[in-house]
Amino acid sequence: MLRQVAEGVLIHQSEFCQSNAVVVQGRAGVLLIDAGIYGNEMACLANDLSESGQTVVASFSTHPHWDHVLWHDGLGAAPRYGTARCAAAIRDEMSGTGWQARIAEWIPPDIAEQMSWNVFGLITGLPAETTEIPWDGPRVRMIEHQAHAPGHAALLIEDRGVLVAGDMLSDVLIPMLDVHDAADPIEDYLAGLRLLEGAAGDVDVLVPGHGSVGGADQLRARIDLDRAYVQALRGAGATGDPRVGPSAKDGWEWVASVHARQLQGLTRDN
Ligand SMILES: [Zn+2]
Repeated sequence: MLRQVAEGVLIHQSEFCQSNAVVVQGRAGVLLIDAGIYGNEMACLANDLSESGQTVVASFSTHPHWDHVLWHDGLGAAPRYGTARCAAAIRDEMSGTGWQARIAEWIPPDIAEQMSWNVFGLITGLPAETTEIPWDGPRVRMIEHQAHAPGHAALLIEDRGVLVAGDMLSDVLIPMLDVHDAADPIEDYLAGLRLLEGAAGDVDVLVPGHGSVGGADQLRARIDLDRAYVQALRGAGATGDPRVGPSAKDGWEWVASVHARQLQGLTRDN
């Protein structure tokens, strides 16, 4: 089921971690951002689009984590873009023997059994100097940074005032730092937040990779909350973040264990 969040911008929210796939209507078809999770959800999305006479003409993955690079044959064979770094990172993960089994360890079994490995992770890297998605539709600006994952990009659909944030600015997930690959994960994260803050004046609707859609006020509140969380990590102290502990929303209690692991990872790495 697609829900409109702005003119010509619709989302499909997955059963898994409130993952948001975003559809942007263009002149000759749609741009699909972070296509979806369950095979049957993507098949349903493909059906909805074809019933309304639309096809996917381009796709974009915000970052190289498994839940953002899935695909379904029914969505067709449009180019699937990511930043150059995103494409390189997923290519790396999909090399060597046993890569499929290594990635599958992260994936809940009910999702894995509906997965199409033949179309998993096929991301075309856009040249490093690219600032906009190459497609025939509203201008979509890429805001690349290194918070959360290598080559992560938020997308700003300028004329519609929509920011697609990828795995940042969630109301249910704390900032998840790239503690293992980045030299300075905390500074990378703060730099990413500064870039999003710089774009905030143009945003009326925020769509996070996981969680609830928000307005301009939510965007600013989540930037502040995420910055406070990350700064508290630097002090390796308690955060008081509402997404961690008893105030976490139902079903999201596990976020506290991500927080504990992050604290550990940072202490070990730094
Ligand atoms: Zn992610």
